[in-house]
Amino acid sequence: MHPWYTHYDPGVPKEAPRPWLLTDLLRENTRRYPHKVALEFLGRSLSYRSLWQQVEAFAKGLQEAGLKPGDRVAIMLPNSPQFVIAFYGTLLAGGVAVNTNPMYTPRELGHQLRDSGARVLVILDLLLPRYQEVKAEAPVGVLVRTGIQDYLPFPKNLLYPLMLKRKGQTPRNLEGTPWRAFLKPGNPQPVPLDLDDLALLQYTGGTTGVAKGAMLTHRNLSSNALQVRSWIPDFQEGEEVVLGAIPFFHVYGMTVAMNLALLGAAKLVLLPRPEIKPIVEAIEKHQVTLFPGVPTLYVAFNNFPGIEKRNLRSIRACISGSAPLPLEVADRFERLTGAKLVEGYGLTEASPVTHCNPLHGVRKLGSVGLPFPGVEAKVVDEEGQEVPMGEVGELVVKGPNIMKGYWNRPEETQKALQDGWLFTGDMARMDQDGYFYIVDRKKDMIIAGGYNIYPREVEEVLYQHEAVQEAAVVGVPDPYRGETVAAFLVLKEGYKGKVTEKDIEAFCRQNLAAYKVPRIIEFRDSLPKTSVGKILKRELTKEIAAKR
Ligand code: AMP
Repeated sequence: MHPWYTHYDPGVPKEAPRPWLLTDLLRENTRRYPHKVALEFLGRSLSYRSLWQQVEAFAKGLQEAGLKPGDRVAIMLPNSPQFVIAFYGTLLAGGVAVNTNPMYTPRELGHQLRDSGARVLVILDLLLPRYQEVKAEAPVGVLVRTGIQDYLPFPKNLLYPLMLKRKGQTPRNLEGTPWRAFLKPGNPQPVPLDLDDLALLQYTGGTTGVAKGAMLTHRNLSSNALQVRSWIPDFQEGEEVVLGAIPFFHVYGMTVAMNLALLGAAKLVLLPRPEIKPIVEAIEKHQVTLFPGVPTLYVAFNNFPGIEKRNLRSIRACISGSAPLPLEVADRFERLTGAKLVEGYGLTEASPVTHCNPLHGVRKLGSVGLPFPGVEAKVVDEEGQEVPMGEVGELVVKGPNIMKGYWNRPEETQKALQDGWLFTGDMARMDQDGYFYIVDRKKDMIIAGGYNIYPREVEEVLYQHEAVQEAAVVGVPDPYRGETVAAFLVLKEGYKGKVTEKDIEAFCRQNLAAYKVPRIIEFRDSLPKTSVGKILKRELTKEIAAKR
């Protein structure tokens, strides 16, 4: 028996859970719990039956608009009922969802639409101007737009367009099909789906300058949500209240909040933005029991004014992922709530969670915990050979949650996946009990506030500025965001003294989602380099960290 099994909490199975189609699980929960609340959003709730009806109606709308199995549907929405409906509706129609970050600039959106070849875009009306900027080069056949409040429980939504018309409020100047007009009541054509069919393209990385789509299948997504569920041995089907605060457009939020909740017949409380005040209020009001998050969110929670006086005892379990969780943060959170908060680890290519500390058993300081049921994990050297226990090497993982490959990128797929093992690009070690520790990153990546930023992508944007001769982007430790983005620039002759840090920042804002924009910008006469001319990024990081 592998050492890590002996540290699993009692009740956690050792094998991978049996995978299902996500849509079958939601249909089954609708049959069993038709009147239970599935979604809670801006003061309204939607039952499982109503949610399923709208999922079917959306799938039918897609089919009537000509969607064929395997076609891509890009979704650019914040957490909302429309997100959930568009995602499950796409799967039911046999389509492949493409998660699109609402923070993307037109440049980033254009790349994703072109690369994925999306036929449909479902977009929040406020974000339409971004699509309009790129539609000439990245047109979609079908555009569905929705306002954030734009949903009412079935069947009222059928009457809604009529009500608006009567009030003379039908928005005429917005292009695209309005959300409600797109939902076609009735049953969609059944599409035979296989567990290994693609369900989601989740864009990640930028180590080569542009993001690539991780191909996640139905098996991958349902396995990971069920693995998370089995990790919570006291998970009570039909009874939990899950906080959907972290964004679903990243597969972390999608799996550990949205899918976990819906596959467990829980109530999913949706928040369109991960802001701390509405989070605290939602926990109190809805008596949230499971609160998945990222370290910055728990830090904000711990420091929220008057938090000690709030009624937060309903929370039982929290999984923190995406970046290291400081122990003080977990301790204070647990004292405030009485809940268990454990650190996990994962990456987009694994749908995403592969490791987690036990909720009730031994948690180890600085460790990302044990591999999930059904996940194999080992630490290997440059040749791919397993290193002796305790030594550092690259973490590789295998299991039902590991992606099929990168969309249209066979070479990158071959590098990342070998004999079914996913090379994570993270350096790790394993102790005698089978607990894993992430010690470094092989890949060039910054994690700021839970978001991943690839320096290469930011550098490429900086190089497009006419004044920039050389650019180096590094991550700098930051007490709140974990890391923050710093850019070091050498300006071309003739621009020195004329171009300011503010100009560079403004240029970045036009081309990069806000979280990728460097917070620190420094001009230098030259950058430190090796004898072969490679920029010594570690030196820059050390220098700036010492100054702060
Ligand atoms: P993403 O593909 O956006 O999910 O990012 C995955 C990357 O985040 C991993 O490859 C790690 O580098 C990092 N990461 C995730 N969880 C942790 C953690 N608990 N500690 C340190 N790094 C983490």
